[in-house]
Amino acid sequence: MQLRIPGPTPCPPQALQAMGQQMVNHRGDRFVKILKSITERLKQVFQTKGDVLLLTASGTGGMEAAIVNTLSPGDKVLSITNGFFGERFLDIARAYGAEVIALGFEWGKPVDPDAIAGALRANSDIKAVLVVHNETSTGMTNDLREISSVVKTFDKLLLVDAISSLGCINLPVDEWNCDVVVTGSQKGWMVPPGLAMVSVSERAWQAHARARMPRCYWDFTLAKEHLQKGQTPWTPAVSLCYALDATLDLMLGEGLDNIFARHARVAQLTRNGVKSLGLSLFCDEKYASNTVTAVNPSGRIDVSRLIRVLEDEHDVIIGGGQERLSGKIFRIGHLGFVCEDDMESVLEALGKALPLAKKA
Ligand SMILES: *Cc1c(COP(=O)(O)O)cnc(C)c1O
Repeated sequence: MQLRIPGPTPCPPQALQAMGQQMVNHRGDRFVKILKSITERLKQVFQTKGDVLLLTASGTGGMEAAIVNTLSPGDKVLSITNGFFGERFLDIARAYGAEVIALGFEWGKPVDPDAIAGALRANSDIKAVLVVHNETSTGMTNDLREISSVVKTFDKLLLVDAISSLGCINLPVDEWNCDVVVTGSQKGWMVPPGLAMVSVSERAWQAHARARMPRCYWDFTLAKEHLQKGQTPWTPAVSLCYALDATLDLMLGEGLDNIFARHARVAQLTRNGVKSLGLSLFCDEKYASNTVTAVNPSGRIDVSRLIRVLEDEHDVIIGGGQERLSGKIFRIGHLGFVCEDDMESVLEALGKALPLAKKA
């Protein structure tokens, strides 16, 4: 089977095997050792000297944690959106009583840094900026380095959803001054769903000390206090920690630069293949993501039939479009446990399935 949706992604045998291990006491020495070692290696992948906390949640839980730990009800936040997950971040902030200023761009279109500067200039009381690094819904990577440099000119807190980019696409958290960065285990980390990993900068800790949004399960203070003892406040997903322990070994063994280069190669191969089948990319190739390719079949293809044919006849599983893009695009995930051969077989299947999915 080729599971090529943008998460959950396939797990390498080392991760699956690790998960089969017996439980241990999550307050005992053996788990302390695992958690401390995981945390140290996560910091290497996040490229941060700050804290990295491990939460038992899907990625969205990490997004919620980022908001409730750094903001108070009534705080003004600038929410940058150009896709489905940007809107999710916005919705979470609004649900917890932030006063959200929405800076929306068309889905699949790049973020305009001048517009961010304009919004920050017009609203000097903005506390934080929310942004998605890699918009999984549109197959597009936002220029986070550039966005961050604008946000930091105005000295604002920067909260980043990097759920589908961290560990696949370069994101030096400290160098780019990102205050809270969230990712999820079922994307580039090659682990089943259920863990969110969140970095917290010094600046974010200062915001945290004043933040009054209600929180209990997500509380960063509790997480940090427990982490100092090699524990988590609540029972962690022990088996997923075993898996992450194994995949971090694989990732650091390969090396970050090699991982980023592999994702770039596999993504380029995918884009070239899609174009050579006469299809077009949903977003400008300049911003095309190295973890997920969104394909615009231009109305000639019945997307749901295509997805069905690929699964039924080729055992290849790809994703459809989300929300307003449902039925309009399809998405091929190529992150985590993936190499050129995988995408070649996906493209070959796609070439065979397309004629069967033509609209009458
Ligand atoms: C997958 C994803 C999410 C949601 O994560 P869940 O694990 O489904 O909660 C959020 N943002 C982005 C960019 C994603 O790719």
